[in-house]
Amino acid sequence: MIEGEQKITGRRGGTVEENRKKGILYIVVPCYNEEEALLTSAKSLLDKLGALRESGIVSEKSRIVFVDDGSRDKTWELITQLYHEHWEITGLRFAHNRGHQNAILAGMLYAKDYCDYTITIDADLQQDINALSLFIEEYESGSEVVFGVRNSRNTDGFFKRLSATVFYKVMRFMGANIYENSADYRLMSAKALDALSEYGEVNLFLRGIIPDIGLKSSVVHFDVFPRMQGESKYSLSKMMTLAADGVTSFSIKPIRMVFGMGILALLVGVGMVIHIVYEHYFGYTIDGWSSILMSIWVLGGAVLLSLGIIGEYVGRNYLETKRRPRYYFWDVLSHDNTQSGGGENL
Ligand code: UDP
Ligand code: MG
Repeated sequence: MIEGEQKITGRRGGTVEENRKKGILYIVVPCYNEEEALLTSAKSLLDKLGALRESGIVSEKSRIVFVDDGSRDKTWELITQLYHEHWEITGLRFAHNRGHQNAILAGMLYAKDYCDYTITIDADLQQDINALSLFIEEYESGSEVVFGVRNSRNTDGFFKRLSATVFYKVMRFMGANIYENSADYRLMSAKALDALSEYGEVNLFLRGIIPDIGLKSSVVHFDVFPRMQGESKYSLSKMMTLAADGVTSFSIKPIRMVFGMGILALLVGVGMVIHIVYEHYFGYTIDGWSSILMSIWVLGGAVLLSLGIIGEYVGRNYLETKRRPRYYFWDVLSHDNTQSGGGENL
């Protein structure tokens, strides 16, 4: 074999190691009704990207991809305006609201054909953008995935903090391989994105799926600031859906728990039969109505709960087998992705 033939070449020719330095970065930003925050955030991101470009850390071809998750306010108009003003801005638009996880995924899968790596960050820039260079350093030293882990939750309200703590504890207990306090502020190399694109599930929980890919990864700690503009777009029902997706897409433990509960209920039932037979012969059967009532409630409860959990999995199976598309782009605004700084619009 000719020497050099074994070298793995990257997307831009050259070896993977050569391409790691000054790679093409695509920053992916999901946006849902973010008209208040968008312009400020875009300015900070453009400044940051400009600085990274000028200091030779990222390639001139690096971009910012805003994914409009079916917003009902002026978000898309603002993205269109930003696209016309800045060659490095790309806009993708969903026909309707498909949720944060789908928006991130769409942005990353769109970007993977043009970039060396993506970093996802929320549109409100609550996550410290100064950590971007730390993510890039980790990528350059060989990590395919870099997880952002938040330093503290001081900026969250009591309820959000409590629900997040319970959520991560439950997820770990259920067997999902997930970093506590990990956010969707994350770097993924094109290779990791190729692997991710093979995962076909509709119920998406990226924080659980990505560690499952198993490529070399590392962690960056970052600070979280309070939201400056607008309100949280993560309603309670959106958080509950995310939690349900997280648990059911990663573990069959709930089904096992139902099985355990069934055995327990059966044992109690046997005990009750012995008790009833005993009472029948040696006691007053009429007194037994309270225990019968109790067992009806206990068993009724157990049966209902079990049905609920099984139903949850059946329901998810139903959704998965339909293989519906996860999202559909209504609009795509992109300057020539092969062009670098000062593309056709300048
Ligand atoms: N988001 C989205 N689709 C949704 C809800 C939220 O794309 O259905 C985006 C939102 O625009 C933001 C990110 O997801 O960029 C995180 O949302 P938010 O900051 O409101 O959540 P929080 O920080 O309160 O958890
Ligand atoms: Mg936020």
